[in-house]
Amino acid sequence: MLFLLLTGGEPFLRADFARIYTELRKMGLMISINTNGSLLTDELMEVFRQYPPTRVNVSLYGGSAQTYRDLCRNAAYETVTANIRRMKEAGLSLKINCSVTPYNVQDIEKIFDFGKENEIPVQATTYMYPPVRINGEKYGTAPDRFSWEDAAKYLVLCREQYLTPEQLMYGITQTEEDTLDCTGETGMPMNCRAGRTAFWVTWDGRMLPCGMFPNEGYSVRSMKFEEAWQKVRDYTASIMMPAECSGCSKREKCAACAAACIAESGDSTIKPEYICNMTQRQEDLIKQKYGRGIRSDENK
Ligand code: SF4
Ligand code: SF4
Repeated sequence: MLFLLLTGGEPFLRADFARIYTELRKMGLMISINTNGSLLTDELMEVFRQYPPTRVNVSLYGGSAQTYRDLCRNAAYETVTANIRRMKEAGLSLKINCSVTPYNVQDIEKIFDFGKENEIPVQATTYMYPPVRINGEKYGTAPDRFSWEDAAKYLVLCREQYLTPEQLMYGITQTEEDTLDCTGETGMPMNCRAGRTAFWVTWDGRMLPCGMFPNEGYSVRSMKFEEAWQKVRDYTASIMMPAECSGCSKREKCAACAAACIAESGDSTIKPEYICNMTQRQEDLIKQKYGRGIRSDENK
């Protein structure tokens, strides 16, 4: 293992985070951290100066104090943005993550502007996984998420913040080479990193292919690490994707994956309608707005 992502919840909540992080860095790991940026201390900054993380991904939930309060029930906007600037000034490698929801959608431009002003890339998503890890088997249910129409509309708006019309069109244009062969009635196995070159360990020691899987996983406390890893690999190899997705020419540009299929329907072989509609709507919106006069071979 070379690359490690420390995430949460919020990892800086742990009183012993600095010690854990330092020991892991001394082992030679390249460590990224996901944080909401509100709990950065002088002690942590000192540790990061001495042992810089590969990247710190900071979730920014709004572009103003008001939005922050509305969405997070917490007046942390000033603290978070000050901490982002502080880490930037210290030379840390940063990325801003933004989950766009009906509560902060009005701030999309402000959030990207903050990223541009501070020369920090922003990664935004409008797709919200149904939280089946915590709400049992309520597949396809995510309270307060966008309709797929709005999720597509606002994702296009996010992409317009950093892509040119030509780049937007190129992102959706299919060429003959892009067209994938349909594999027939059964789907293909998972082909992301989860359970093949990557694993996830929960706070209580259960190993899963990735953090979005709702199942129990295999405890690295009650079995050897190698054993848990082998079980995760075997489990991953047994999971099939929907046949429609396996043969779909949009597959490389669509967020459908095994974990998303399970979260949307409870079954990895069932096409996630919400994501499918969202992908198609994005293409339609971009084509409607930018498509005229731009041919695919002019965008390469
Ligand atoms: S969800 Fe729809 S658009 Fe996405 S890969 Fe599957 S069939 Fe294609
Ligand atoms: S969320 Fe989906 S694409 Fe990402 S690692 Fe998990 S299964 Fe793979």
